[in-house]
Amino acid sequence: MQYKLWIDGKWVDSKGGGMMQIENPATGEKIAEVQEATRSDVDEAVRVAKGAFYDGRWSRKSPGERSKAIWKLAELLEEKSEEFARVESENTGKPYKFLSLASDVPFTVDNLKFFATAARDTHGSHAGEFMPGYTSMYRREPVGVIGQITPWNYPLNMAGWKIGPALAAGCTIVLKPAPGTPLTTLMLAELTQAAGIPDGVVNILSGGNETGQAIAEHPDVRMICVTGSSGTGKKVMKTAADTLKRVHLELGGKAPFIVFDDSDPELVAAKASFAATANTGQDCTAATRIYVEKGRAKDMREAVVEAMKNVKVGSPFDDDVVMGPLISGIQRERVSAFVDKAKSQGAKILTGGGIPKDLDKGYFYSPTVITNVEQDWEIVQQEVFGPVITIQEFDNEAQALHLGNDVLYGLAASVFTKDVGRAMRLTSQLEFGTVWVNDHLPITSETPHGGFKQSGFGKDLSAEAVGDYQITKHVMIAQS
Ligand code: NAD
Repeated sequence: MQYKLWIDGKWVDSKGGGMMQIENPATGEKIAEVQEATRSDVDEAVRVAKGAFYDGRWSRKSPGERSKAIWKLAELLEEKSEEFARVESENTGKPYKFLSLASDVPFTVDNLKFFATAARDTHGSHAGEFMPGYTSMYRREPVGVIGQITPWNYPLNMAGWKIGPALAAGCTIVLKPAPGTPLTTLMLAELTQAAGIPDGVVNILSGGNETGQAIAEHPDVRMICVTGSSGTGKKVMKTAADTLKRVHLELGGKAPFIVFDDSDPELVAAKASFAATANTGQDCTAATRIYVEKGRAKDMREAVVEAMKNVKVGSPFDDDVVMGPLISGIQRERVSAFVDKAKSQGAKILTGGGIPKDLDKGYFYSPTVITNVEQDWEIVQQEVFGPVITIQEFDNEAQALHLGNDVLYGLAASVFTKDVGRAMRLTSQLEFGTVWVNDHLPITSETPHGGFKQSGFGKDLSAEAVGDYQITKHVMIAQS
């Protein structure tokens, strides 16, 4: 299968002629070829998106018309759920039945339906006389041409999280998916046309980091939105400074999972093992650092290890499989290097720590639990992005809070306790964009997702995301 670039409602060839090979991480086999967009392809896509923004073909449609088209896009995706889920699983190794079909595709449909609804409530909020003889009102204007760059872990979902709110706000888009996982995003391009979103409003360019860099540099791109690693976020922010464009960054995470003695070990084990292995741990909100209160640490540790051993790993197309491979050989080497380094520092591997038996094709890695680690080690401080958790102990609430907050990241955290007062104190003091109590991982279309600290800023999902793609304009009218 070969894919081209989607610019102005047409499939076009890249001006450079470069091709990128796309592989199935469960088998290592090549499944498609996509074009690599060059700087001049980026120029062309931005020119088209700029024209589409200023002629008002989308930005000046009524909110109701915009809403109808985004809703239609959601419905078309829903009709093609199985095809999208199959390609997503082939391209990323996600379990087809357990994740792609049951979660990634229906959640993207729900996200788009939410943004279709939010599109009808994008108006300004104030009108009043704040100086005698003048009426002021606030308008909410779309930002303009938006550059959007997505990662490989949830390709379709991330495309929906970016495209949905930008369209709801009336913006036009140049989006670049991650180099290895562009297929479902390219498939979505054609659906935008079928949904009645005018040509030129959504442009999709497959390409590598340099393509992303060209989008971030472009002077006519008014805002650059990236979901990716914190390192990429820092580079993009520096680049954006040259043209003072708005920056919206959803970056890495290193979520603490804090367990007090009054918690049920079965619940803790079920939630921790799911939150550490869902999407093979390649989730920015994945549970990665478990802190257990000393009193029942042994019970909690044993329950978690048992649950991690029971996670069914295998081919994405086996119905009972809940965890597939890592995304690539490079990613597996990275995960192994973190675990091996921790081992060499004296860590104890309670389960996993290597390639599962009988899964030597593709990039599988066993669910792994590590203990005897120190807070300042890499395995605790840095994002591993694999099915790996560390377990440490704490003495009291103050220490749990300190350890939980003691990383550069601030995306997500959880607290397990039956004590409501303790839950309230910790949820207010943990510096993370999402804090769960007695759970870890669920998100909804209505609720904002985004970081504190080096996990970035700006929100995906929720009405706040739509607001991020708008600018408030004050209009002041002299009455005489
Ligand atoms: P990455 O940072 O390597 O790449 C992300 C995207 O940025 C890719 O499309 C890449 O081509 C592009 N890119 C890289 N360098 C660029 C540059 N200089 N200019 C412009 N674009 C550039 O991340 P990844 O490995 O694809 O994804 C994993 C990372 O994404 C993890 O750190 C994970 O935590 C993060 N993530 C965050 C969230 C969130 O909501 N906060 C969600 C999913 C993933």
